[in-house]
Amino acid sequence: MLRTPPWLRDVARLPRALLPDGRCRLCALASRAPLCSACQCAMRRAPAWSCERCAVELPAPAVCCGACALRPPAFARTVAWGDYAAPLDRLVARIKHGEDPVLARWLGRLLARSLRARWPSRQLAAAHVLPMPMTPAALRRRGYNQAWELALGLARELGWSADCRQLLRRREGPAQSSLPLARRGANVRGAFEVRALPRGTRVLLVDDVMTSGASAEHAARALLRAGAAEVAVAVLLRTPPPPWV
Ligand SMILES: [Zn+2]
Ligand SMILES: [Zn+2]
Repeated sequence: MLRTPPWLRDVARLPRALLPDGRCRLCALASRAPLCSACQCAMRRAPAWSCERCAVELPAPAVCCGACALRPPAFARTVAWGDYAAPLDRLVARIKHGEDPVLARWLGRLLARSLRARWPSRQLAAAHVLPMPMTPAALRRRGYNQAWELALGLARELGWSADCRQLLRRREGPAQSSLPLARRGANVRGAFEVRALPRGTRVLLVDDVMTSGASAEHAARALLRAGAAEVAVAVLLRTPPPPWV
């Protein structure tokens, strides 16, 4: 496991005012890209093996994890760019409240490259890119959906279309991150509505983080009910599994 040096964790906590454009968002060294090439390589721990369905890291090569084998999710496959762990979790904190839209779209492009590298060409037929939606009230409060910014960067990189009006979130419960894993499914059940999606559309659903997968599961079910041919998922960061025993 890659250890983060303490100085790097401290730099990553610097407020945006101290980290102008032209600096790496993780190490603060001069960089033309939002992350310098050293941080892109060193800070991103790509798992050797991961579940094709939900992208969770696996301890040994296998097609999918035990949870997906027992109960296959509604989405066909998932790709993740990195682990939801320090120091990459700082990137999500930066894009979550619209502080750094340049970073969000740029990360969307990196996510697109992971998808190209990991999925065989037959799975890469053009899909319609939809962001994980927020309720209208939440969007008004925050004024920004980081999943949409990621989706825009990803769609531009792949030359695919993106739309933020076809998958809607109607009901708002507590934030998923504030709930224990077992309650997250109930919190998003029936929360999604699909509008004007042509039947047979291949959908790529984009989100910043996947932990339990409950939001992706219920959004995918709504999309399939509305006539989508297939739903795949792209998340910037995937929560690592608990340590194996
Ligand atoms: Zn750096
Ligand atoms: Zn899985």
